[in-house]
Amino acid sequence: MKSSITPNQIKQNNRRLIYDFIYKNRKVSQQDISYNLRLSRPTVTTNLAAMENDGLIQKNGQIDTEFVGRKAAAYSIVPDYRISIGTEILKKEVKMIAVNLYGEKISRTTYGITFECSGSYFKTVCDKILEFINSLGTADERILGIGFAMQGLVTPDKQTILYGEILSCTGLSITEFSRHLPYPCSFIHDADSAAVSELWASPELTDAFYLSLSRHLGAAIISKGTILSGKHGHSSTIEHIPMQPDGPKCYCGRIGCMETLLSLTSLLSEAETPDCFFEKVRQKEPSALNRWNIFLTNLAKAVNILHLVYDTDFILGGYLAQYLCEEDIAFIHDKIQQMTPFAEAHDFLLISKMPKHNISIGAALPYIQTFLNSPDI
Ligand SMILES: [Zn+2]
Repeated sequence: MKSSITPNQIKQNNRRLIYDFIYKNRKVSQQDISYNLRLSRPTVTTNLAAMENDGLIQKNGQIDTEFVGRKAAAYSIVPDYRISIGTEILKKEVKMIAVNLYGEKISRTTYGITFECSGSYFKTVCDKILEFINSLGTADERILGIGFAMQGLVTPDKQTILYGEILSCTGLSITEFSRHLPYPCSFIHDADSAAVSELWASPELTDAFYLSLSRHLGAAIISKGTILSGKHGHSSTIEHIPMQPDGPKCYCGRIGCMETLLSLTSLLSEAETPDCFFEKVRQKEPSALNRWNIFLTNLAKAVNILHLVYDTDFILGGYLAQYLCEEDIAFIHDKIQQMTPFAEAHDFLLISKMPKHNISIGAALPYIQTFLNSPDI
C-alpha cells in the first residue's frame, strides 16, 4: 500500500527545512528562505513566527536583498538554544568546555585534579562541572548532556571503559559521574572525540585515517563520515602495534609499541615543553633536530604500514598538529616514498584543521549532532 504524507508531516518538514536553511546560511531574510526553498511567503512567515516564539531563532539586524536599495529583516538561529558540555579527564587535570549549536566555544576552564578511581574523585569532578555550568548562567533545560573524553577504549553503548590502562580505570561505569549530575552523560574515547571534531570542522571529509599525536598516541578510522569502532570496540588502536622489538616498555605491558615511539611523552624529555622543543627544532639545534627527525621517520614508517592497509587520506592531528609545518610533511612523504612499493601521490597527508581544544569539543559534539538531527526540532 502506498503511504501518504499527512499535513502535519508537511508542516513539520517545512519547519525543519527552514531551520536547517537558517542554520546553514547563518543570516538570511524571509525572501532568501522563500526563494531558495520554493516555499510560499505565508508559509515562511508563519514558521518564522512560531520558531521565534519557541526561542529557536531570532531577528538579527538587517540584510541586503536582491532588490537594490532595500534591506530586509535578517534571521539567525539562537546558537545557545541548546548547549553541550565536553569534559576531558586526564591524569592530572580536568578540562571542561561548553559549546553552542555551532560547536563554538562558549566558555572553558581547567582544574588541576589528579585522577583516582574513587568516589570522592568522581564527586569532586561533578561538583566542578556543576560549578562550571552554573557560571554559564543558562537554564538547565538548555544543557543537552555531558560527554567525558577518556584516555581509554569505550564500549559501543558509551557507558563503560573497556580498556583504560593509562588511568587504570578499566571497567569504570558512567554512573560514577551521572549519579551526581542531572544531565545525560556518556564516555567517548579521546582519539574518537578528536576525530569527531575534525569531521565537524571539515564536513566534506568522508573517509580518513585520523592520527592523534598527543601526550599519548591514538587513532580513529573515519569511514563514510562516521567513526568505526569495530567488532569488539578496539579498531584503530594502532598505538599498540609492535614496532621496535628491543624498544621501551609501553603502558600496556608490551615492548616497543607505536605508542613508545610516537607519543609526546616519548618525544620530549622530562621537563621539556613542546613550545621549548619546537623552538630548538626550528632553530636547527642539532640534538633537538635529530630527535625530531627520528620521530618523523618513525611516523613515516607507521603511516606507510597503515596506508598499505587502508589507502585513504591521513590526518595528522592531536596536540602536536599545531607545531607541524609543510617541511615536516615533505620529510614524511620522502621517507614513505623510500619504503613503499607504489609511486605515492603527495596528496594523502594532511594536517588537522582543528588542533585546539579538539578533544573536549569532540566530547560535547555528539549531543549537538543528535539535537540537530532530531526530527522534531
Ligand atoms: Zn602498547
